[in-house]
This record gives sequence, structure tokens and C-alpha cells, in this order.
Amino acid sequence: MNDSIRTLPGIGEKRQAQYAKLGIHTVLDLLRHFPRAYQNRSQLKLLKDVQDEEVCPVLVTVATEPRVTPPLKNRLVLMKFRVFDDSASATVTFFQQTYLKEVFHVGMVFRLFGKFKVRMGKIEITSPQFEPLFEGTTLPDYIPVYPLTDGLSQKMVSQAVSLALSRLEDDPPEEILPEALRGQRELPSAAEAYRLIHRPASEEDIRRGRDYFVFESLYLFSLGIATRRRHRTQALAPHLLPADLSPFFASLPFALTADQARCIDEIRRDMRPDAPRPMARLVSGDVGSGKTMVAAAAVYLCVKGGMQAMLMAPTEILAFQHFSELAPLFASFGIRCELLTGSVKLSEKRRIRADLASGDLPFVIGTHALLSEGVHCANPGLVVTDEQHRFGVNQRARLAEEGGCDPHVLVMSATPIPRTLALILYGDLDVSTIETMPPGRQKVDTFVVGESYRARLHAFIRKQVDQGGQVYIVCPAIEPRQKEAEEEFSYGSFLNLLGQPEEEGEDELHYAIDYAEFLSTRIFPDLTIGCLHGKMKPAEKDAVMRAFASGAIQILVATTVIEVGVNVPSATLMLVENAERFGLSQLHQLRGRVGRGNRKSYCVLVSDAKGETAKARLEILRQLSSGYQIAQEDLKLRGPGDFFPSASGSARQSGEFSIGLASLCTDMQQLHDATSAASAVIERDPELILPENQAAKKAVSALFQLTRHSLS
Ligand code: ADP
Ligand code: MG
Repeated sequence: MNDSIRTLPGIGEKRQAQYAKLGIHTVLDLLRHFPRAYQNRSQLKLLKDVQDEEVCPVLVTVATEPRVTPPLKNRLVLMKFRVFDDSASATVTFFQQTYLKEVFHVGMVFRLFGKFKVRMGKIEITSPQFEPLFEGTTLPDYIPVYPLTDGLSQKMVSQAVSLALSRLEDDPPEEILPEALRGQRELPSAAEAYRLIHRPASEEDIRRGRDYFVFESLYLFSLGIATRRRHRTQALAPHLLPADLSPFFASLPFALTADQARCIDEIRRDMRPDAPRPMARLVSGDVGSGKTMVAAAAVYLCVKGGMQAMLMAPTEILAFQHFSELAPLFASFGIRCELLTGSVKLSEKRRIRADLASGDLPFVIGTHALLSEGVHCANPGLVVTDEQHRFGVNQRARLAEEGGCDPHVLVMSATPIPRTLALILYGDLDVSTIETMPPGRQKVDTFVVGESYRARLHAFIRKQVDQGGQVYIVCPAIEPRQKEAEEEFSYGSFLNLLGQPEEEGEDELHYAIDYAEFLSTRIFPDLTIGCLHGKMKPAEKDAVMRAFASGAIQILVATTVIEVGVNVPSATLMLVENAERFGLSQLHQLRGRVGRGNRKSYCVLVSDAKGETAKARLEILRQLSSGYQIAQEDLKLRGPGDFFPSASGSARQSGEFSIGLASLCTDMQQLHDATSAASAVIERDPELILPENQAAKKAVSALFQLTRHSLS
């Protein structure tokens, strides 16, 4: 199972490189490359019943040998032959694929799938997908649809998976779930689960296969969290001197909200001089709930307590915003604060690093470049990470080990998570929540509109800009998804892994790059339009963000990369295209980008989704403005999976942290069960040394990249 995929027949150097792009290196990786959907080909139609333009499977016999027509003037080579079933006959055409002459022969039976043309009683199908049916065999009802990359086709991946599956018998994969647990939950063996998910014979098989892997990911996640919680109880707290927060409170331009005050109290208790263990606390609070001042209080306690504090933000612009707000505040207490990001001059970086290493610099704000470039503090007392959901769990672990000692750790998250769920997902942290907003916040008016409003929307955008406002337009994707690669599965009806029907084919998505181009050439040629997406380099992203913040760009077309923390007070309109594609909490985050200044602000969700759930979800967003209430509703509608760190696509792409299929968890009970199963195992076998826990231990360390401290 751990052999290279090169050991599979048909996979050479070129294919190996293509698979590597999908993160597939070993035979086991290939088995863990799960289908993203299934095409149901069980409902065979008789040729005579097929309608014009209908997409369906038929079972036919080849009636004539394929005939290749000489190249036409546009140099297309056509190959045609006739087929029949009990009811009628039809013509099959392929373009350019003359090698198929060797595939189709008179008398052979094939299942064809594709779009039919029926004209004046003549039935035709062009470039169908085809599967030969040999005597004594059957064809599967469900055809897996795999995520692809350039150069790989569904057939290739599927054939490679078949080869990998055939190895299972002689070389069964290690069982991650202990036998007793599998028995109790009536889960299949790992080998069986791979068969179910890749080669299901029924919807029930799809469900059983999926349930196995969802439970497995939840179990591993919980084991990792439980391990880390255990590790915490063995760590020693930094020795801070007593410090008084009153000067800090006295210097604030506003009164703290009750929730802010409570959070700060909890932090003060965690960071008291005689605290036995380092603080490990998550402050979860909606956008704009005032987490920065809570973090600042912690920094104050740390620095006045005689140690150094670091504050890390996921992007340069956020680091810069924190710096602009906090540096003057701390200067007023005589505490020096410096900014360390990728774009700081090398000589500056050197100086700041030296000052940190000598202990002269008490407080530094920066991006995670701070970490990767190896910063050492003489007396690290506190690490604050802002907007945790962009960091992923790994980085949190690495931060905690900064400098070989265990500083206090404070994690700020702007993703409102229902408390019941936060206690599980952040089981290794203590959780404080800020639920109330500072007084005087304006409400962002929210509208849900369809495509028919397009012209009015353009007028509305223009009006906002004319009045001095700025506009965000968020699109669900960067560029059309691998069009050619997906062609062979471009139509028909699909079941996703949840057994839910997926829409037919590719619908009209607004792709950020194309759309920005379209708007600037066709609709608003006189305005400055910027584009921001996840494939840009951090420096490019920051440059665009700065131009928008300064007002040089009036309309910013972006993917969800802008979702985190950015503060542009003159932005008055957030327009989200294909809004049904986004999670509710994500939409709420996006909406939080506007309404930050004193101008009236709006959020427009554009969606033509017909489904009842999709409509209900957008309606929730229109009605509610509290992130916690919205998250609670999201939990009810879509289950806890969406709240996992990997659930947002970008985290998965950057490889920070991925827990496989856990994002498909739709059931709170399943999550509870996995958590308690993991706790029970850790209780019996805290270091995971029993043979039955070996595979899980390996998987957990890979998942969390745990180091010597946590799992030895
Ligand atoms: P977030 O939780 O999203 O990080 P911030 O800490 O950036 O929110 O706070 C958002 C804004 O609210 C800031 O301009 C901050 O100065 C202001 N603010 C924070 N706390 C209060 C308060 N108690 N009363 C009034 N304004 C506050
Ligand atoms: Mg913030």
C-alpha cells in the first residue's frame, strides 16, 4: 500500500508527475482519492423512448463495423457505425478517435451514455461514453467521478484505482479504527470501505463507504485534539511578574463591553504569575466584536510581567492594521512595538530579530513569516494568533513550541462557532466567546436577488461609487475549472458523496478573473477595477488590497480571500455572486467587510438557486445579523462538517491541514460519538502504544505534524 504508484501497470514517469499534482504518490494515496460524485447509469432507456436532447444510458449491440470518413475540409476525421436494441436502431459518431475502430465490432454489446439527437425518427449520439458488456458480467450502476488534473481522464484514474483495489486482498491496509469500535458501530473493514466508496453497487454502499471514512477522519481529529490536550497538562507556564491592568483600561477611548471584560478576566486568570500551565485559549467573537483590545490586554499583562509578546496575523495587511492601531497605544505605556513582515527591509528584519533574541524588543507584530523565518525570543511569554481559521491547526501547534519553551497562547477567531461545537473542535483550548457587539453598530441591509436584477445591480454599484463608496464583488471561483479535463463528465445527473443529487453540468459561475475583465471593459470602463484571488502571490495580494484601502481601486472583484479581517471603512457594498455556493458563516464574514464606516452599507446576495434549502439558507442570512445565530442555523441545516478547519477550500489547497471527509459530517451525533470513542482510547492508552492503535498514531502524527513533545 505504501509503494509508489509507479508499481501499478500503466503508470510511468509522466503519469506519476500528474498524480503528484493531486497529492497522490502511493497506492494508498490513490485509494484515498475519493470520488467527488457518482453518475447513476442504472436507468437504461430503450432507443425508441429516447427524446431529442435527452442524456441517458442505453444498452445496444453493434450492427456495423465502424467506417472512417476521409478528413473533411476542417480536417475532422469522423467514425460512424450503427447500433440497435430491441426497440430501434441508432447511429454513433466519434470525432478524431479512429483508434476506437479497434474497440467496436459487430455483435459486441455496449452501454452508451451521452446526449441523444432525435430528428425525424433518426436517432443519433455523438462521442458517448461507452462500456463493453461481456457475457457473464454486469456493469456497475454507479460510475465514480474523480477530481482530476490536466492530462488525467476519468477512465485513467478509475483504471488505476481498480488496480489499487485489486491489491487490497493480498495487502490489506492497516486498520485505523480498533476492531471493537468497528464492531460496535457496525463499520466495515478498511479494505471493504475502500471497495464501497470506489465501486459502490448501490446508494447504500455509497453511504456505508462514506460513513466509514467520515467517522475515521472525525476519530483521528479527536485523537489529535485529545493528545494535544494531554500534552498541555504536562507543560509549564512562563513566569510572569504581577501586573496591574488599570492603566490599560484607563487609556481606552471606550468602555469595554461586558463580554470583552469577561474574556480579559479569563485571560488574566490564565496568565497569573503562579499559573501552573500555559494559557491555551481561543477567543471566538464575531467580526467587529472587539477582539483586538482583548488581545492587547493579554499583551499588556505579558510585557508588564517582564516577558515578550508576539502577535501574528495571516496577511501583511492585517498585520499592518494591527500595528497601526496598537503601536501608538503601547507607545503611550512606554512599550516599544515593531512590525515584522515579508516586505520589511532586510536590514530592518535583522535588527528586529536581534532585538527579539536579546530580549530588548518586548512586542512584535507580524505575519506568519515571523515563524518560517525562524524568530527567536529571549523570553517568549505570549503568542497571539489572529483570525485562526486561516492558519489551520498545524501552525497553532508549531507556534506553541516557539523558542523551546511553552509561552501562553491566545487564538483569536472571527468565525462564530456555536459553543457546543467549539468545545469539541477546539477541545485542546479553553474557549471564551464574545457574543455582544460594541454599541452603535449599524446594520448592513441585506438583499437576495436573481439574475433578472443584473441591470439594476450595475446601476446600484455605480451609485455607490458616485457617492464615494467602494464595492466588493465576490465570486465563487478563480477561473473555469479544468474544462477539458471534465468534458467527459460534463452532463448528466450526479449523486454527491452525501447521496444528494447535484445539478446537471456546469452552470453559469462568475469567475473572478473573467468577471473583472468583463466589468472593466464592458460595464464600468471609467472606473478602476481590481482583482484579488488566492493564486496571487502574497505581495501581489497585499498591493491590490492596499490600493483598495487607499481608494485607488473602486471595485474589487475577488474570491473569498478577502473574507478575513480587512478593514476598509469606505466600502459600502458587498455583492456576492452565486451566493448559494458559500457557507452561511462565510457569507456572514463577507458581509462583515462592509458597514465599517459611517456610511449606510448593503450586502446583495445574487443567486438563482431553485432548491428549497438554498433559498432557506439565504433567507436566514437576510433576516439575522448575529454571527452566532447564523452559525447555529448553519449547524442545523448543514451539520458540523462546515465548521472544520479544512472546510474552506483554500486551507485544503495550501496543505495546511486536512481531515479528509470530515467536512461531510452532517450529524452532530456522529461527531460526539467519534469524540467519545477517541477519549476512551486515549484514557486506556494515553501514548497510543498498543498494537491496535499503531496505525491511528501514525495517521494522527501525519495529520497534526506533532513533534516530540506531543507524540513520541
Ligand atoms: P474584531 O473582533 O473583528 O477583531 P476589532 O477588535 O477590530 O474587531 O474591533 C472593531 C472596532 O470596534 C475597532 O474599531 C475597535 O476600536 C472598536 N471597538 C472595540 N471595542 C469597543 C467597545 N467596547 N466600544 C466601542 N468600540 C469598540
Ligand atoms: Mg480582528
